Amino acid sequence: MMWTTGQNDVIRELGHKGVAVVHDAILARYGVDRTLHAIEIQASRIHASLKVLTECPECHALGVRINRQSGMCRRCTVAAHVAEDEAYNQLLEAEAAGCDGGPEYEELNRRWAQLRQKNSRLMREHNLKSKRERE
Ligand SMILES: [Zn+2]
Repeated sequence: MMWTTGQNDVIRELGHKGVAVVHDAILARYGVDRTLHAIEIQASRIHASLKVLTECPECHALGVRINRQSGMCRRCTVAAHVAEDEAYNQLLEAEAAGCDGGPEYEELNRRWAQLRQKNSRLMREHNLKSKRERE
């Protein structure tokens, strides 16, 4: 049976995943059941490689060294560390600035409560319009 352009494209596209994956893809897409040997012959005819290459799941780079812990290439592994520590850094900066609590927050909160109390007393005693009624 003739090799179609589409089937050749499958070899070029998926060759780096090995001959078995190419076989399954050609079967799934075109309903043609090639032998592994026939695929190997066709691959060498069109100068496509069937050598299995590692692939980074993150950036899809082929033939790269994969970090065993992260499962990604070295660049993506470091990029992930950077992103993680950037987020952690923002958390620390916010904590250090007292945005999330701490003495400055407590002090402001106390002052706010006092002012609300004072204002509601003034409104009651002098029959003044509330903030909402003024809008
Ligand atoms: Zn990568």
